[in-house]
Amino acid sequence: MLKTFARKALTTSSVRASSQLRYDGQVAIITGAGAGLGKEYALQFASRGASVVVNDLGGARDGDGASNSAADAVVELIKSKGGKAVANYNSVTDGDELVKTAVDSFGKVDIVVNNAGILRDRSLLRISEDDWNAIIDVHLTGAFKTSQAAFEHMKANKFGRFIFTSSAAGIYGNFGQANYSAAKLGLYGFSNTIAIEGAKYNITSNTIAPLAASRLTEDILPPDILDMLKPEYVAPLVLYLCHQDTSKTGGLFEVGGGWAGELRRERAKGAVYAKKGEEITVEGVQANFDGITDFDEPTYPTSSMESTMEMVDAIVSAE
Ligand code: NAD
Repeated sequence: MLKTFARKALTTSSVRASSQLRYDGQVAIITGAGAGLGKEYALQFASRGASVVVNDLGGARDGDGASNSAADAVVELIKSKGGKAVANYNSVTDGDELVKTAVDSFGKVDIVVNNAGILRDRSLLRISEDDWNAIIDVHLTGAFKTSQAAFEHMKANKFGRFIFTSSAAGIYGNFGQANYSAAKLGLYGFSNTIAIEGAKYNITSNTIAPLAASRLTEDILPPDILDMLKPEYVAPLVLYLCHQDTSKTGGLFEVGGGWAGELRRERAKGAVYAKKGEEITVEGVQANFDGITDFDEPTYPTSSMESTMEMVDAIVSAE
């Protein structure tokens, strides 16, 4: 009886050990890894064998200031557990420096998790040009600079995994976050094109819209909800999407509290409001607006080519 139990336990643990998703030999850059979600990604990648560049500027929630201590503390924690990590204190807007740190320290870059982020929440009329630029710089330009520099190495190595961090605010809009929403949905478009350009080099790119307890959400969500939303719950999806055996690309996932769901585009069947040879009028739109917005027979275009072909088909068949 005991022997059977021991054999079963051994088999189960060896199955678990051999089937654990590992990242040995992989080099991961995690931006904004000094706190919150990024810290958790860094810890989990390192615990599964990856060499990690822990990037963090160490500024305030609105992006002001800088400090080395956030990145240093995470590197120390990883090393104390036997993992491999190096700190980088640049702003993501100097993304080529992050990639240089990865290449100088570990010889290559396989994974980039674009995670660094700040907030400058104000309603539209109160957003200064400085607030606008700061958000676009960190989220969009930072992701561009880091990913462009990394892509070159990934292309040469014929392997790469990108994650971009969007937000429900970007997808659905949110009062007081016009600047942040614009940047966050911009990242989804950016990721989709990287997915297309990277396909022939085994480079994938996916976007997440996370929900997690961090300094960005601590005063927005009630404490009992925050308890359910530890960053630990988001990290497994990010790690899964970055694994070498995961081929998923071009996805957008909402994720939080141990739940994740992919989003996709749905388009109304639509209506032709100006047939060839007929007058092109605003009234044509008015007369067909119900059809233009009718989702009873939706379509699900997955590429701009598919989208265009469906549109052309509808126009031609209406002639
Ligand atoms: P966080 O503030 O705990 O972590 C963000 C980290 O990014 C900080 O450590 C900060 O120092 C760093 N950072 C900021 N600007 C930087 C720069 N220019 N260069 C390098 N590092 C910089 O916040 P978080 O909640 O963990 O957010 C992580 C990402 O997830 C952000 O992009 C955020 O917009 C996004 N997000 C978070 C939530 C959520 O529920 N927490 C929701 C939607 C999106």
